[in-house]
Amino acid sequence: MKINNLENISARAKEAESYNQQFEKKSVEMILVWAAEKFAGKIVFACSFGAEDMVIMDLIYKYKLPIEVITLDTGRLPGETYDLIEATEKKYGLAISVYYPQTSTVEKLTSEKGLFSFRESIANRKECCQIRKIEPLRRGLAGKKAWITGIRKDQSVTRTIAQKMEFDEANQLFKINPLLDWSEEMIWEYIKEKKVPYNDLHEQGYPSIGCQPCTRAIKKGEDIRAGRWWWENPDQKECGLHGYCKVSKKS
Ligand code: SF4
Repeated sequence: MKINNLENISARAKEAESYNQQFEKKSVEMILVWAAEKFAGKIVFACSFGAEDMVIMDLIYKYKLPIEVITLDTGRLPGETYDLIEATEKKYGLAISVYYPQTSTVEKLTSEKGLFSFRESIANRKECCQIRKIEPLRRGLAGKKAWITGIRKDQSVTRTIAQKMEFDEANQLFKINPLLDWSEEMIWEYIKEKKVPYNDLHEQGYPSIGCQPCTRAIKKGEDIRAGRWWWENPDQKECGLHGYCKVSKKS
């Protein structure tokens, strides 16, 4: 049984690699159109409402792509993110499925460890991300064949090993990162030119936005993800949604 699974993972990884080679000459639009057709009815865009994700949202709308949009409400998001979710729904008229953490698990966590246990250790922080992000994401991806993300290589040291198409072993489906090679400038050029809605916090020194208690504004010259879990080392700063942290620590 285990061997069959390993063979399957290896075959899927090879398949992802062959798509990756085809993606080299494809634009973001072409990748999204291809993916919507290839994984018809079984593809989802997990939107965090960051600037990159708003570009993808705009393209899904522009090309009327049949890609389901989901998001995770951890219960700790900043008010500005909720404002953006509403503005996005109004502008694009897209139905966005929101996944929440399990109430009983959050109640257990906060009653046993308090509201800010994630600041006490990396293990506690990962536990909170597991409950509020990873488990709801698993439900959002259940039964799907592929998911789309807005990650870019130059966002952090943990993301330099990412590929445009990967086989996501943890969630057992393909993961597509069409904006991987885009720079921050390209993202903002697109947003301004197409008048795409974005999070007000971006104007206040927040290039990367997650949960409110785990995100701060950055100072001039700081890395763009310096404001996320700022009390941890840069090579550990992943919540587990993208699974690059473990690999990057070896390099
Ligand atoms: S980012 Fe912070 S508050 Fe949000 S799930 Fe992770 S540890 Fe919890």
